[in-house]
Amino acid sequence: MFDNLLFQNAGELLAEDVQNNRLPQSMLFSGPPGAGKLTSALELGRVLSCRETPPGLWQCNCSSCLRHKSLSHSELLVMGPRDCLLEIQAARSSFEAAVASGARHLTAVRYLFVRSIRKLVVRFNPVLWEGDDTRISRAAPLVAEINELLEEFDPLRPLPPEKAIRKSVESLITLCGKLEDGFLYDTIPVSHIRNAAAWAHFVPSGNKKVLIIENADRMQESARNALLKILEEPPKDAVFILTTSRRGAVMPTILSRLRTYGFVDRTPKAQQEVISRVFHAEEFSSGSLTDYLYSFLPVAPAVLERLAALFLREVLVRASDEGRNSSAVLEQAIDSFLNELSGAADNGPEYGGEEDIASFIINQTKNFEPRILFRIFLRGIIRILRYSLRIPDTCARDYQISYRWTAVIGEALEHVTVYNQSPSAALELLCTELGTSLDI
Ligand SMILES: [Zn+2]
Repeated sequence: MFDNLLFQNAGELLAEDVQNNRLPQSMLFSGPPGAGKLTSALELGRVLSCRETPPGLWQCNCSSCLRHKSLSHSELLVMGPRDCLLEIQAARSSFEAAVASGARHLTAVRYLFVRSIRKLVVRFNPVLWEGDDTRISRAAPLVAEINELLEEFDPLRPLPPEKAIRKSVESLITLCGKLEDGFLYDTIPVSHIRNAAAWAHFVPSGNKKVLIIENADRMQESARNALLKILEEPPKDAVFILTTSRRGAVMPTILSRLRTYGFVDRTPKAQQEVISRVFHAEEFSSGSLTDYLYSFLPVAPAVLERLAALFLREVLVRASDEGRNSSAVLEQAIDSFLNELSGAADNGPEYGGEEDIASFIINQTKNFEPRILFRIFLRGIIRILRYSLRIPDTCARDYQISYRWTAVIGEALEHVTVYNQSPSAALELLCTELGTSLDI
């Protein structure tokens, strides 16, 4: 068991706890992004539901393990925000390369591709969305179309011809993009927690029910309280696996109900080996797993961060034009940040001031599609703020500005990812709000 979890001790600890019957009912997998937390949670779900003796062998083909491997087990619920698209793109690249070359690992990457898409689709399980009728009724046709196309790639069926594969893969990517950007919540809504609790308590199954909550730190207060309630009195047959990369942001009362399994940031060499063994991407010879996944973004992260710096510069110029005080520290931070980025391979476009900065950025990022581009852009602004606070001349006002700006940026992200505001409207608003926040 846990053979697919590479370079993490957590896998051995979990396997020992399962074998010695010491596994807690509720646990937290904590560690940096890309450390294998979801992989382990899914594998644990498979092991706990296996019907063979001894249970959970890696090669087990019992009906339960097969359904877990294809992420279609009815006693498995997965919820929570996740950037699924990049992994789907990476898996697609491995799969298409293997199809073209007839590589020996074709079956493995076929599973990889199907599972990468199922990781997105499982989050639209009708059990979770009960009562959220408008959103799920609009998402349902996309989910149905994806499921239908996925059947062609079922590893138990013969593969279609290469041309047909490419066409279906292309459609799958488009549909998954629409599903993730248009319908996946960026925080965990309280309704999902309540529906999952009702499922865990009242839907009879006689087997283990496994509930995986990814990015469990991203919850509103009502959702947290609902989760706490169910963790305080968990139904007998349910197992709760929460994951987070920000353990400090999980409510202490929730933490006290969980046993934490720690996942570490793998060494650069170990990450290279993960990329090579999972994605068979031998051509990607330096960089982390995140770098590898980011290489599938339509706009490079360095370009997005540079656009963030240009945006901030315009915010300060516009504020000065309106008679507001600028911030020397921020101006200096923007300059050093741009200087540092000037060494990047892809430098991005020049901004000459001919058009409005917001329209310029929207054009360059093709309206921030997929939405993860908007998050990386905002993260660039936060990085510049952190930069500014390290400058020796920083004064109390700069700290106050940084505090206010962080809140405004958080709201902008929420407007776009939770309330579906258009990125161009969000940028306009952001420009105004950052400007007025200088009035301290
Ligand atoms: Zn089995």
